[in-house]
Amino acid sequence: LAVPGVRALQPYQPGKPIDEVARELGLKPEQIIKLASNENPLGPSPKALAAARTALDDLCLYPDGNGFNLKQKLSARLGVTPEQLTLGNGSNDVLELVIRAFADSESEVVFSQYAFAVYPISTQAVGARGVSVPARDWGHDLDAMADAVNERTRIVFVANPNNPTGTALGRDALVRFLARVPENVIVVLDEAYCEYFEDDEFPDGVSLLADHPNLVVTRTFSKAWGLAALRVGYAVSSADIADVLNRVRQPFNVDSVALAAATAVLDDEDYLQRSRQVNRDGLKQLAAGFETLGLDYIPSSGNFIAVDVGRDGSAVFEGLLRQGVIVRPMGGYGMPQHLRISVGLPEENARCLEALQMVLESLN
Ligand code: PMP
Repeated sequence: LAVPGVRALQPYQPGKPIDEVARELGLKPEQIIKLASNENPLGPSPKALAAARTALDDLCLYPDGNGFNLKQKLSARLGVTPEQLTLGNGSNDVLELVIRAFADSESEVVFSQYAFAVYPISTQAVGARGVSVPARDWGHDLDAMADAVNERTRIVFVANPNNPTGTALGRDALVRFLARVPENVIVVLDEAYCEYFEDDEFPDGVSLLADHPNLVVTRTFSKAWGLAALRVGYAVSSADIADVLNRVRQPFNVDSVALAAATAVLDDEDYLQRSRQVNRDGLKQLAAGFETLGLDYIPSSGNFIAVDVGRDGSAVFEGLLRQGVIVRPMGGYGMPQHLRISVGLPEENARCLEALQMVLESLN
C-alpha cells in the first residue's frame, strides 16, 4: 500500500546498540565500546546536564514551540536574526524539512557519491529522484555536482566536513560552486561537524549566507556539543526560507529538555574546547595506529576516520564486534573495504586499535 518511493526504501542503518552487543556476547554494557555513531566521547557538559534536570520539573507543559531562548542565544552567537533560524529534532529533522518543503515527485536532488545516508533516503521518501554524483578523492566533486544541476533540480546537498569520508571543502571551492548553482536551487551546506575544523581555511557557511539567498546551513548539537540523545539541530538561512521550513515542521518538534540543555551548553565554551582537543588528539592516535598496522585511511576533518582494512570490511567489523568493539561498516555506502571509526577517549582508541590488530592477524 505504500507509495512507490517508500516501497523501495532501504531504512537508515544506525550503529549497533551497546546493549544488543553486550547481550550477544554475554558481557556487561560497560565492557563494550562503541565508536560507531560519531558521538562525543566526553559525556555531556555539566551545564547542559543541570539545565536538562531543571527542565524536568515542567514535564507536564508543552515546550516553547518557537524555541525563543535557544534562538536568542544562537542568533547572537551566529550574527543572524532569530527569524533566520529553524530548529529541528536533530539536524536530520531539518534536512527532511528542506526536502519536504522544496522537492516533490517531479524533482531531482543532487548529492555526492559518499554522502550522508539521510539525503537519499529522505529524497526517495517524497518520490523525488536522487542524483548521486561520483566523488573525487573520496570527497565532493563540486564541478561535477554543478554540472548535474538541471531544470528539475530543486536541492543540492553538500556536507563540510563530509560524513562518512571526513573530507573537507575550502572557501574558494565552495564560493565558486555557489556561483554556478542557479538561485532557484536550494544548496544545503550540512555543517554537522564544522566545530572540528582546525583552521580558517574552511568556510563558516553562515558567512556565505549574505551573498547566497538560496543557501541553507545546517548544524547540530549532537557532535561537538555532546547532546546526541536529545536531538537538537538547526538551519540558518534567509528569513524567507526559514519561514517556509517553519511552516512544514511539527509545532513542537524540539522538546523542553532538549531546548534547555542546548541553550545552556552554548555557555560552556570550555566543553567545546575540550571536545575539540580530545578529537584532535584522538584523530592523531588513530591515524598513527593505522600507519603502524600498514592501513590506508582518509585524512579526516570530522570526529571519525574511514580506514581501508585492505579486505572485506564486514568480516573485520564482525571480528571487532566479537571483541566488544562496535565500529561502522561502510559497505552500505559503497566503501566495502572501509570501516568508519569514531574518535573515542585515548583508552578507547587504544583498545580499538589493539582489537583491530588482533582481528586482522586472525584473518590473515
Ligand atoms: N549530517 C551529517 C553529515 C551527519 O553525519 C549527521 C549525523 N550522523 C547528521 C547530519 C544528523 O545528526 P543529528 O540529527 O544528530 O543532528
